[in-house]
This record gives sequence, structure tokens and C-alpha cells, in this order.
Amino acid sequence: MPFIHTPEHVAWKAAFENYYWDRLEESWELVEESGVGELSYLLGAYRLIEGEYRTRVHSEISPILPWLQFERVLDETGGEDARLGAEIVAACDYAAERLAWTHDAATMVSILAGEVDRPWATNPYGYCVDKHPYDKICLPSHLISDPRQFFEATAHEYAHVISLNLSQGRAPRWLGEAISVLVERPLDRYALRQFRSGRWAWRAPEDLEGMFDVNSDDRDGVYRAYQQAGLIGRYLAESGDSAKLRQLLVEHAREGLWPSLRRSIAGRSRTDNALRAVYGLGEAELFQKALAGLSEF
Ligand SMILES: [Zn+2]
Repeated sequence: MPFIHTPEHVAWKAAFENYYWDRLEESWELVEESGVGELSYLLGAYRLIEGEYRTRVHSEISPILPWLQFERVLDETGGEDARLGAEIVAACDYAAERLAWTHDAATMVSILAGEVDRPWATNPYGYCVDKHPYDKICLPSHLISDPRQFFEATAHEYAHVISLNLSQGRAPRWLGEAISVLVERPLDRYALRQFRSGRWAWRAPEDLEGMFDVNSDDRDGVYRAYQQAGLIGRYLAESGDSAKLRQLLVEHAREGLWPSLRRSIAGRSRTDNALRAVYGLGEAELFQKALAGLSEF
């Protein structure tokens, strides 16, 4: 069936265009007017736009550093404003050091308004969007009262900003999460035991890739996918230094026509090739070795 350009489709296309330029008022006007209707798969996007728009209505945006802007609702951050700004800088510095990154991608960290922080919040610990004027990190306001979680969530999302920029958005989701979970938190010994004993299934790359949907009903599956990715990230980190991890991401962006042609003849993925170039092992082999290596941690 051909794609039908209904008025809703046209409105949503324009809404997304505005959203990716962070023009939230224009974006929200379009989606509020046209609604989700039959397009129920757009419900998550509708809520994302609504949350960022409602925040923007009441927010203040301040530059913290030349590359970093901070958006928040002052009535809600109140006396914590300076502390939160300092924590954001510390978390970004921490992630940058782990990945041998010097801050040069314009970034906005936005603490979403409390009114959108409801149980249906699509991403309970935050998310990162590759927008045009800047990469935007959105954090739910409940993190304000928990400094450790605030730090971890910011470091996790900023590691996504770094991965996105180094790989030019070409790294698979599992690798992005592997790096973000590695940066975010110390080793989770409980997850380690579950995978080591086989109580939690260790997924192959192509199976793991589809498991990161935070809106999925399979909450355990999603949680385990993040844990597995984090352990693979840890294995990579133990197999080299931060420069090597960085190189793996860069390799995804670097590929020219010849290598691309050669690897498609050999039936390999971009990631498989990048891994071979930097770590000397393919994607499937990495997953097997990381599983076998769990006993070393
Ligand atoms: Zn993530």
C-alpha cells in the first residue's frame, strides 16, 4: 500500500522537523492540533514533545560553559540551582575523561518540569536527542533530589552525546548503551552472577539490538539488555584504554567506499569491521569472549 499523505502525516512531519531544531512551541502546536488519531505509534513522540514544550514555557536557559547550556524551571530547582549546574559539569567531565573526549559538541542539559514527571514518562531516567543546534539531554525532575542518580543519569546521557559524535550516529544501539552503562555506574555484581550462572540468557548481537525499548512491556528483558550491554562495555574497557574505546567509535564514522564494499562482500557489519580493526575480533566473538570473561570480574 502506498504511503498516504493525510493531513495528520503532513502535520507530524513538520512537527518532527521543528522538534529536531528544538522549536518546541511550533512543534507542540502542530501535534496538539492534529493529535495522534490512528497513528498510535506516535504516542511516545507526542508525550516527548509535550514534556519538552511544557518545560520550555516556564524554563530559564543559561550558558554554563561555551559548549554547555542548562535549562530548568527555577521555581523547581530553586536553591539547588548552583549545585545542579556543578554536578552537570562534573558528570560531563567524568564521561569525557573515560572516553578521551574534549568537549566540542554543543550540548543542552534540560531538567524537565515537574508537571511532566508522571508515571507515564517515556524515559524514567532521561534521554538524549541528536538535535541540530545542540545535542539535548533531558532529565526527569525527580532526579533533583537524588544526587547520585542525577550524576549517573547525566554521565550516561552525555556518554551518548560523545558516542553519537564520534561515530556520527553509525554505532549500533547495543554499543552506545555498552559505553553509556560502563561510564554510568560501577560493576553490578548481581547481574554478573545472573549471566554467569545462565539464569539470565546472554543474547547474540542481533537479538540484543532490539531489546532497548524502554516503552516495552517486557521490563525485565529491557533491564537485562542494559546490564548485558554494560558488561560488554566493561570487557572492552578492560581490553584496552580509553583511546581504544574512542577509536572503536571513530572507526564507525571513518569507513570509506572500499572498506564498505569489501565488508559487504564478506557479509560483515560495520561494527564487525570496526571491532576487527581496533580489537582484533569480530562482533560474535566479542560477545562470546565477554561472556567467558565474566568469571574474571
Ligand atoms: Zn542509554
